[in-house]
This record gives sequence, C-alpha cells and structure tokens, in this order.
Amino acid sequence: MFFTFSVPTRQRTELLDITSEVLSKIRSSKLSEGICLVYVPHTTAGITINENADPSVRSDIIMELNKRVPFEDGYRHLEGNSAAHIKASIMGCCVSIPVQNGRPTLGTWQGIYLCEFDGPRTRSVHVKVMGDASAS
Ligand code: ZN
Repeated sequence: MFFTFSVPTRQRTELLDITSEVLSKIRSSKLSEGICLVYVPHTTAGITINENADPSVRSDIIMELNKRVPFEDGYRHLEGNSAAHIKASIMGCCVSIPVQNGRPTLGTWQGIYLCEFDGPRTRSVHVKVMGDASAS
C-alpha cells in the first residue's frame, strides 16, 4: 500500500513530528506485519527518528547542524541553498520501521520527524507499507 501526504512547514529549518500521520497510514493499510518505509522526495528536506518527549532535543539537533553546516560558506551552488542540501544528505531521505501487530515498533521515546532545511514550503511524504495482512 502506498500513501502520500503533504506537510506545510513554517520555518527555514525545523523538525516536524509526522508520527501520527504515519501511524494513520499504517492503520489504513490494514497490514499486520511488515515494513513501513517513510520517504521524502526532496533534496533539501530529510527524515529522521528521534526523541519525542523533550523538544529541546530537536532544537539541539538543529543548533548543531547549523553550526557544522553554516548557511554561508563560499558554496558554489548558485541557488544559494547548499547548506540545506548538505543537511538533507546528512539526515537522509528515508527511514524504515518494522511493523508488528499493525503498529510501528517505535520505542517509547521515538518520533518520526520531517526535517525542513529550506522552508517554509509544502513538502510531500511518501509512505509505503509492505507485509502480511494476517498476524503470524
Ligand atoms: Zn539548491
């Protein structure tokens, strides 16, 4: 089963929790066991899984990424958003999550985040759920 949803971002750089949207797609798939692939078809956005409890973790990740990859650093790319491309490659464009009993096997403190590095804009997220309809 394949799903796509849109995420409007509000800031230049931010991590947006998309866990509930992904959960609802897994539920819609009615698959019991398998793999859920979450993918962003963008070159200046990424996907990651990290802590969902303390929002400071997200702001610390952004702070360190911005320190290590400055917005201006004599880049050659004429569009002027090389920092966003580099950060997107650091984070990666997809995650896969095992699904068991119709639920992603995320840890208690894990959430799925869309990483915006060149916002604000509207991003697409693809979700592919592969597996078995019946529990084994
Ligand atoms: Zn560019």
